[in-house]
Formats: sequence, C-alpha cells, structure tokens
Amino acid sequence: MMPMTDCDAVMRQFWDYLDGELNEATMAAIDAHVQMCSHCNPHIQFERAFKAALRSAREPVAELTPLRDRVRAALAAAGYEAP
Ligand SMILES: [Zn+2]
Repeated sequence: MMPMTDCDAVMRQFWDYLDGELNEATMAAIDAHVQMCSHCNPHIQFERAFKAALRSAREPVAELTPLRDRVRAALAAAGYEAP
C-alpha cells in the first residue's frame, strides 16, 4: 500500500498543518501519515507541545516566570525531557 503522502510533503506543509490551515483532504492525509510514521510523529508531537507552551507562555498571569522555564515546564508536562 502506497502512503498518501511522504515525509518530505509532510515537512513542507508542517506549519500549515499544525495551524490547521490546509484543506480537509490534505489534513487527513498528513494525519494518517504522522500516525504511522516514526520519523514525522515525534516532530508533530514535539511541535504541538512547543506551540502549546508558547500559547500558555503568552498568558499575562505567567509573566513572573521566565519564558524558558515556562516552555520547559510545559514540555516536561507533555512528556519531553528538558535539555
Ligand atoms: Zn513521515
């Protein structure tokens, strides 16, 4: 069975995919790919966690904590080791 999309195609459309800016068929094709692909899946998981961390870091209530620490905490909460 041929995959509907490949790693290069996923990486080219990576940010649009994360932002949900692609059409439904393309989103579905990339969804299907990243669920099966051991190369793309960790990328997507990491960037999702990173974007979520940046979003929460923009909340004014968190201003007392340095951005780096907030990103690190959010990544840790998502299961990623802090560097
Ligand atoms: Zn892939």
